[in-house]
Parts: sequence; C-alpha cells; structure tokens
Amino acid sequence: MGGKERAAGRCGATAALLMGLGLAGCVPTEGSGKSGDQVSVDGSLRTVRTNETSQNDGIAVVAVDVNAGETSLLLTAQADQLVSVEYIEDPSGDRVFYWEDWYGDYSLTGAIFPEARDMAVNWPVRAADAPLQAGIWYVGIATTNNNGYYVNNVDIDLTLQLKSDDDTSRATVRALVAYADGLADDPEVVAGTEAAVERWAEVWAAAGITLEARFTSTDLDPVLPTMYDGGSAEIRSLAADEGEDNDVMVVIGDSVGNQRNTYGISGGIPGTLVATKRAAVVISWVANAGGDGTFEDADVQLYGETLAHEVGHYMGLFHPVESSYDYWDALDDTPECTNARGCENNLGENNMFPYPVCDFRSCLAQDVITDEQAGVSHRYAGAL
Ligand SMILES: [Zn+2]
Repeated sequence: MGGKERAAGRCGATAALLMGLGLAGCVPTEGSGKSGDQVSVDGSLRTVRTNETSQNDGIAVVAVDVNAGETSLLLTAQADQLVSVEYIEDPSGDRVFYWEDWYGDYSLTGAIFPEARDMAVNWPVRAADAPLQAGIWYVGIATTNNNGYYVNNVDIDLTLQLKSDDDTSRATVRALVAYADGLADDPEVVAGTEAAVERWAEVWAAAGITLEARFTSTDLDPVLPTMYDGGSAEIRSLAADEGEDNDVMVVIGDSVGNQRNTYGISGGIPGTLVATKRAAVVISWVANAGGDGTFEDADVQLYGETLAHEVGHYMGLFHPVESSYDYWDALDDTPECTNARGCENNLGENNMFPYPVCDFRSCLAQDVITDEQAGVSHRYAGAL
C-alpha cells in the first residue's frame, strides 16, 4: 500500500461537467470507435485495443462504449509514466467511482495506486457497485511521475475487455502455468505443482469457479521479479507469446526476488488478461515446499491454497484484513477484526487471509471463500 500523494486534479471535475454538456475543453475529441481501434470477439469476451493521451490536467479521458448485455469491464493501461485510475462515470454522467474515496482504511481496487507503468481496473467489483449498462462510460486515467505529480501529454495504450455474462454462480477461469527455466525437468517440482493445482481447483470449485489449467515450460530466470518495481519485459514477452487475451498467467520459479519467505505475489489487484510487464502471478515453489525441496502432503495443500490466494488477488480480491490489522477489504461478509488473535480466530480459514495460520504440527486449511468474495471473482472479466 502507501501510494504516492497526487497533486490535486482540477480539470478532472471540469472535464466531467463539460462532457455532460457535450463540450470540448479538457475533453479529448476522440472517443471509442476511432478508426484505429482493433476489436476482437472471443466467445463472451470482446477486446478493443485503442489509445488515448493525457490532457493538460494529466488525465486521459477514456470513452468505453458498453453494449447491452455486457456486465464487466477490464481496462488495461500501459504508458511510459505511472498510470492509475482517477474516476469512473456511467452513461448518465454519474461518477460511480472516485479514487480518493478508496484511499483510506478499506480497499476496493489496487488501480488507484500509481505504482507501475501498467495498470488494470475491473468494474464493477462488488454487487453494491454500479452495474454496467449500455452506453458510453468514461474512465479517467491519471499519468503521474515518481514524485506523485500529474504529467501532461502522455500516450497510453489501452485494452478494453468487456464480458457478457451475468451468471455470478458459475464461471470458468483459464490459467497458463509456466515453469521457469529448468523446472519442467524436475519431477519433484512438476508432481508437486500438478497436485497443488488440483487443490487450487478444489478450493475454487466450492465458489462456483472451474479452473482450466494448462502447463508450459519457458527459459525465464527462476528468480522471479517481485512485481513491486514494475515487473519485467520477459513477463510481457511470455504473456504475448504463450498467453491469450482470456487467460491468467502463473509463473513458477525458485523464488520471488530471492525472498526466502515469499510464497507468491500477484501482478496487481486486479491483474490484467493481456501482455504487460506485470501480467502474471509469480510463485516460489521452494517457499511452498517449506524450504526442503520436497513436497509433503501438507506442503501440497499450502501450495494449492497459495495458488488460489494469489490468483484471487489477480481477480480483484484483497485480504479481508491486512496483517497490520488496520486495513480491510470493502466486503460486508468478511468480519472486521483488529488484532492477530481475533483475526486468526475469525478469518484464519479464509483463503484470502494474509498468511498461513500454523502451529508446530500443521497449518489450518485455508479454503473458505465467502459469497461476496466469490462475487468479486465472478465479476472479473476473465471469469467466463
Ligand atoms: Zn495475499
């Protein structure tokens, strides 16, 4: 957490007003449906590739033309400055999301934090959020520098993905599990990972999500990037070469940034379905094996629950409580707690609990996904 402070965005509010009146000003003259847009449709997912430029206020106004029947939007932005979401407006001009409203103790989307040069935002997140409806939506994307100031005139590559699916009880998520260099040749790693993927599928099945995993071997460095410093060009190439526009990539390596105790990290909350430098969940098989290089049954369980947890982040889920016990998710059915003992008692079996809860013999099974947590996952555009 701990996003940078941004200078006040004066023109953002004005832009909304002007757009409502159909006037120019801060408003870009181009919208969706530009002649250069590339559109592809794959089953119930429509993908539009376009671009926009931030204006004098450091905000690009992206017009998203939502068709009838489309229920979720996943917007991916890539630029050579930090990108974050400023606001979302529905077709009647109502601002249904504003970054500052979610900068406090409760977390709705990681997209408000200007932490990388790529960013994904999914809408809606919860049942309580404004549902998509047909018409032109506007998403304000801020371009900021490392000091937290808005930067003007930054070109942004955009991918808009719209899914048509209003069934929040059943979905299929496709995952590409990619082994870093050499690991696909290690029988212990392969057997442990395949068994863990079965545990992951079992945890998700209870939430109405069918996992469809495929495996591939790569020449990626087994010391994986932490994602905190922008991911890597290798991740982007791998996602472009082997991933598709409707799958989530999970990379298995020896470690994440040489950190012994990091089980895994998600490239965003939520992450993207298209190729960016952070287009992956990165997982350390060594940490999940308990450091001894072999998978006991308990290790496989923990590894599988780690996979479900990290890809849960990727689909937009936060920890129900952070391990500082003073930040919570925005969901109503994950109890609020304020200390280790209370949180472990109330939420220790939740799949999104921030750490495994273990005594000297074993760890708790962490396979509970609440109805609202399942709803967030089902609203992710990659849950088809
Ligand atoms: Zn986590």
